[in-house]
Amino acid sequence: MNTIHPAERVLMGPGPSPVPARVLRALGAPTLGHLDPQYLAIMDETCERLRQVYRTRNPLTFPVSGTGMAGMECLAVNLIEPGDEVIVGVNGVFGGRMKDVMERCGATVHALEAPWGEVFTAGQVAAALEQHPKSRLLALVHAETSTGAHQPLEGMADLAHRHGALFLVDAVTSLGGHELRVDDWGIDAIYSGTQKCLSCPPGLSPVSFGERALARMDARKSKPQSWYLDVSMLRKYYLSGGGGGRVYHHTAPINMTYALNEALAIVLEEGLDARIARHAAAHRRLRAGLDSLGLSYIPRQSLHTLNCVGIPAGADDAALRRRLLEDYGIEIGAGLGVMAGKAWRIGLMGHGATTRNVDLILAALREILRPSTAG
Ligand SMILES: *Cc1c(COP(=O)(O)O)cnc(C)c1O
Repeated sequence: MNTIHPAERVLMGPGPSPVPARVLRALGAPTLGHLDPQYLAIMDETCERLRQVYRTRNPLTFPVSGTGMAGMECLAVNLIEPGDEVIVGVNGVFGGRMKDVMERCGATVHALEAPWGEVFTAGQVAAALEQHPKSRLLALVHAETSTGAHQPLEGMADLAHRHGALFLVDAVTSLGGHELRVDDWGIDAIYSGTQKCLSCPPGLSPVSFGERALARMDARKSKPQSWYLDVSMLRKYYLSGGGGGRVYHHTAPINMTYALNEALAIVLEEGLDARIARHAAAHRRLRAGLDSLGLSYIPRQSLHTLNCVGIPAGADDAALRRRLLEDYGIEIGAGLGVMAGKAWRIGLMGHGATTRNVDLILAALREILRPSTAG
């Protein structure tokens, strides 16, 4: 029988990011039962670490079984009832997906649109809330991975709350890499993923729900259409605390919980502020290097974690990315949606946001761009 031997790539795309050996070792620890007291203690500790990384005291903070998209669906199916009006910021692929997911929940979605690469101002958000005063929630993508745009969030919750709307955030490419303060910023519900700035394999989606979101769920007239993602049942497993009274819902992805637990330990050992500063420094170094290669950023307010640059005129997108992968073992991301063929997306996430990786990709790009730039 064959065994598999995946190559050790340098993962510098839009995720997954490189996974530290400590996390891979944790993944290989013995599998426990999902109601074993030892496992429940690990799960409780993981949720507590998630609260620290999210900077929240929300008791209902846990990893949804599934990738970031499962977190998006989890928020939508639990916080929306058919007929609800909602406002979603759409300035890239992921805002577009939120709109799609929420429409499938029966919502009337008022899309607040901006050109790809742009972000929304508080004034635009306030105007949308005034135009659609019955909106039950406002949803924004903090880090739009398809364009590399960095959406400011401070002050947005107050605008939503003034209109009785909840404030929902997609933090898949910001958690663990960018400043993010769930409680201070008044965010009512948020989701993320493990394989971006937390440097854990894909498979879990950390979510957190605040008091307003809990009240909204408690007041539902109808059951969420998803059984698997129904938080009223999930909370009986994740929230009962102290190891007693846990109710089986589905078998938790045990070994992925170990991996997330270890990945969060690494984040907290480094310290959130130091980690965010490291991402910023890697971004600045990359930006300066790309500048000198004549490559320019597409968004005006760029993320540190995802760098979206225009492909030089005349360059063969697919062939150059293939050379990066085959000759250098480096993966970067292609353009998504309207940016397909026009942009490259270079991720500096978690374990990958290092001087070494920045200098490696710059050296490789210099090399592979030489024939086309020198004519
Ligand atoms: C990656 C990503 C998602 C989806 O996460 P998956 O883990 O691929 O399901 C959602 N939103 C944003 C902003 C992302 O970058």
